[in-house]
Amino acid sequence: MPDPSTIVAIEAIPVVVPIRADIRLTTAHGTRDASAYVLVRVTTAGGHVGLGEATVDPLWNGEDSATALQCIRAYLAPEVIGISPLAIEQIGRAMERRTKAHPFAKAAVEMACWDLAGRILGVPVSTLLGGKVRERIATKFVVTATTPERAAELARQAVGQGFQTLKVKVGLGMEEDIARVRAVRDAVGPTIKITVDANGGWSVPAAIAAIRRMEPDQLTLVEQPVAPGDPRRLAEVRRAIGTPIMADESVFTFADAALLVQAGAADIFSLYPGKHGGLLPARKLAAFAEVNGLSASVGSNLELGIASAAMAHLAAATPAIDADRYPTDIIGPLYHEHDVVTDNRFVQRGHAVAPEGPGLGVALDEAAVREYRVQV
Ligand SMILES: [Mg+2]
Repeated sequence: MPDPSTIVAIEAIPVVVPIRADIRLTTAHGTRDASAYVLVRVTTAGGHVGLGEATVDPLWNGEDSATALQCIRAYLAPEVIGISPLAIEQIGRAMERRTKAHPFAKAAVEMACWDLAGRILGVPVSTLLGGKVRERIATKFVVTATTPERAAELARQAVGQGFQTLKVKVGLGMEEDIARVRAVRDAVGPTIKITVDANGGWSVPAAIAAIRRMEPDQLTLVEQPVAPGDPRRLAEVRRAIGTPIMADESVFTFADAALLVQAGAADIFSLYPGKHGGLLPARKLAAFAEVNGLSASVGSNLELGIASAAMAHLAAATPAIDADRYPTDIIGPLYHEHDVVTDNRFVQRGHAVAPEGPGLGVALDEAAVREYRVQV
């Protein structure tokens, strides 16, 4: 008879959930009308069940539903079955030893272990992470790359619903980008924070020119102005402008983070459990940012309720994530027609809170999982 906390089974479930047509997102990565995920259900000998979620978008990280399923079933599950979910450092190391890359698949398994650890000990994940340092986690609404008129309308609506910060997608064409940002600023007035995210869509000269021309619009930060790869390009943009630079696509691994700091390429890291392989690596990157004089915030791949809860626990319990200054993107559930958890009201318009209750504090909506499950 194994110890009751021993992991005995890992089930991976692919789902696809439609994005709400009225706020469908166009970015420099393209347009997205549905989101694919691989959900993970990890069971212990004692009958506890933990939940995890991988966002799978090959444009982002090269992982899709099929590769994430293969990675979890063939490589991660055999490493993790037989270990206690309380041994999260050990689980992370075992997964890293077994296979390179696949951060979103690894994060899903790790997230489920945090959920289990909290359930076994009867405390929320935020408590396991050291306890909450904030209750309300500010979030920003993402204005899609659309016409200036439509962008202004979406921005006004979002502010009317409670958002105090807007992130405008740019990087598709300089004149249109500038007109879109100007229209949003004119629509919402001077007190709302505005950030832009180019998703790497600008060249270095275009980024410098565009950001300089956006100076009257008082940007709080510019996210990923140029493509990831050589951090010297991002550093060149940063030296030429006065607006803080946030690295998103540029920072997946610890090595990425070290190179960005060495090059002086960023002011803020956009962190999320998926991109870094779990909550623990995301916490380590937040600490690395802090000791190097950078800030951190929480970014997003439009997660559903399971991963959004993980992000909320991370943001609630990590001082280096400066959500008041740089609001987070814990907004995925607002963009989808449905969720896979029974209650996602911890994500509101303008802020999120870490769910109460043991573990991640969310429960699977079995009917929704049946509806959105796909064959891969
Ligand atoms: Mg981004």
